Amino acid sequence: MLYAGNKITAHTSLLALVGHPVRHSLSPLLHNAALRSQGVDMVYVAFDVEPSRLSYAVMGLKALGARGANVTLPHKENVIGFMDSLDPLAARVGSVNTIVNDKGHFRGYNTDVAGFIAALRTVRPEGALGAQCLVAGAGGAARAVVAGLMADGAAGIRLYNRTSKRAEQLCAAAEQWGACACVPVTGEELAEVARHADVLVNATSVGLGTSVKDSALPVDIVDSHHVVMDLVYGVQRTALIIQAEARGAATIDGRKMLVMQGASAYRLWTGLDAPIDVMEAAISTM
Ligand code: NAP
Repeated sequence: MLYAGNKITAHTSLLALVGHPVRHSLSPLLHNAALRSQGVDMVYVAFDVEPSRLSYAVMGLKALGARGANVTLPHKENVIGFMDSLDPLAARVGSVNTIVNDKGHFRGYNTDVAGFIAALRTVRPEGALGAQCLVAGAGGAARAVVAGLMADGAAGIRLYNRTSKRAEQLCAAAEQWGACACVPVTGEELAEVARHADVLVNATSVGLGTSVKDSALPVDIVDSHHVVMDLVYGVQRTALIIQAEARGAATIDGRKMLVMQGASAYRLWTGLDAPIDVMEAAISTM
């Protein structure tokens, strides 16, 4: 659906973001900039939907004939129950962040996995291939990261989480996802494992808002052989990214993954390759 002007008309299709909260989100900015730059007749709008109203929101989007949606915290797992079908990767990860409406059929996808790997490839062209990886976190984002690392050929994954039981559960689930082992790590082992890893990934929410000076991963062992990635993004760069960069590591911040997962969703809705530079420029001053 391409059009010449940049006007919202009676033909314009809806793309939605469904989350709670959503007012901090950069997704409307990056998607609307991309849609305008390619003359796609769609508009992307954020909706703050409380958990008790998720079913109404999804059914409402279906009734309105929306082209699709992004789904963010806290709905990524619960929205699965409202999908007509699931992409196999979303089913494996157990979370949906993108919905595509194909003539009334809602199919759920997880573009965090592809977005994570695409972001990693911006500094490590071979992606996770052959890498020893340490991941912090055991929530939805960590599930996507572990699935991505396994699919991309990581040599080994060690997983640290504040609540160790959740790390054990994620590692057990990941046994079905690929050949490489995912092994839980204790707090005592963390620094030594981090020292010998090639890729360090923070997939916890530490580094967000008031905890911007904190890090879930040890930074003082980082050196120039490490690739350090932080999924957290905000107005300020996180302590992990600032200190890892100062210690000579190659770093990737959460905005890169945000743009890359957005680009995957954009391709699913429009059939077009997303203009990455336009998306990045749209959020660069925020
Ligand atoms: P989640 O499901 O709520 O999981 C949160 C994780 O952070 C858990 O592992 C939790 O540990 C840990 N955690 C929270 N506070 C902590 C603290 N003070 N100390 C140590 N660990 C702590 O959230 P999620 O969906 O996985 O998202 C995690 C982060 O990734 C968020 O900041 C989100 O915005 C970001 N993210 C970014 C992108 C992107 O495109 N850049 C995409 C997806 C997610 P416990 O299990 O012990 O509670």
